[in-house]
Amino acid sequence: MAEWITSITNQHVRELSPYESARRLFSADENNSGQIWLNANEAPMSEDFSVNSALFNRYPDCQPQEVISSYARYAGISSGQVIATRGADEGIELIIRAFCEPGKSSVLICPPTYGMYAISAQTFNVGVHKAPLTDDFSLNLDAMGEYVDKVNVVFLCSPNNPTGTRIEAEQIVAVLNMFKDKALVVLDEAYIEFDADATQSALLSTYNNLVILRTLSKAHALAGIRCGFVLSNTQVCQTLMKVIAPYPVPAPVAQVAAQALNAEGIAVMYARVKTLQQGIDTIVKRLSQIDQLTLCGDTKANFVLFKTPYKNKLMAFLVSKGVIIRDQSKQHNLDNCLRITVGSEQENDILLSLIQGFFQEQAISSTKEPS
Ligand SMILES: *Cc1c(COP(=O)(O)O)cnc(C)c1O
Repeated sequence: MAEWITSITNQHVRELSPYESARRLFSADENNSGQIWLNANEAPMSEDFSVNSALFNRYPDCQPQEVISSYARYAGISSGQVIATRGADEGIELIIRAFCEPGKSSVLICPPTYGMYAISAQTFNVGVHKAPLTDDFSLNLDAMGEYVDKVNVVFLCSPNNPTGTRIEAEQIVAVLNMFKDKALVVLDEAYIEFDADATQSALLSTYNNLVILRTLSKAHALAGIRCGFVLSNTQVCQTLMKVIAPYPVPAPVAQVAAQALNAEGIAVMYARVKTLQQGIDTIVKRLSQIDQLTLCGDTKANFVLFKTPYKNKLMAFLVSKGVIIRDQSKQHNLDNCLRITVGSEQENDILLSLIQGFFQEQAISSTKEPS
């Protein structure tokens, strides 16, 4: 690379490497369109939507009113408490940009968890403190307490990606109290439709330091349109509106989101969640019959995490058969862990048959040639 480009690159940016998104690791070009994608927690099916291009010559509303009011109704809060963003990832970024000072402030994360909290912080030269989850993947409140007065934002995720575990309500309330008048507590509910009773949206009226993140990418099966939501009190929302792009939600995105959030769209989504949960049950049942593999965490979301000493070999085998899952073994406390997104019934069946075949093969070869 040209030296002058490096020399004008921000110091903290020079040290970054791009996020290894599921798509960047394995891109879905025409050469591998036959593959089965169970690596990004996407939904396995898509619905039909109609798009009206009549006003595509005009800039869209900054905040599409129909989408905002539909989401507010869906979440049981008022419109002034909702911001539509380019995916929940943009919500994370807006919070860091509005509430953290580059080179000075820090955020707190609780690994193993979603990677974008730390990455977004690092791209803005904001520090990242860590209070890892305990061995049963609950919050370590004592460890978190060390960071009161040291961070502006705390990121929690429930159900947590990639452990699939729920943070109990008492723990969330304890964190809100611990950081009261000190830091925002961002509760990422990207998978909440799979654990609907556990939403903490009712706490928004009690705690003015609570921010909730939501998305249409997971249960709503719309990862491709990039649409998410930030829910908070009006003061936090108005602050975030100062740093958001002028037109963050493209007109076709708003049209599709409005359809997904009408009564029919919501009913279709809940039916999909039910089907996917049956798929999860099947995956859990069949994986638990395999000795060389241990299920990890919980299944409150749309994926299953497991551990096996054959992790690398299994990944390579599945890739060779055109099935892509996600390696989570670099995460804190997740040595040898792989994550499977629940797919369609047929996809799950192909995956499970391959995994069962793989482990039968290992058992045979290990009795034949002990090593
Ligand atoms: C997928 C995911 C997101 C990102 O959602 P987008 O709306 O697609 O940006 C945020 N948080 C968690 C925990 C996720 O798993």
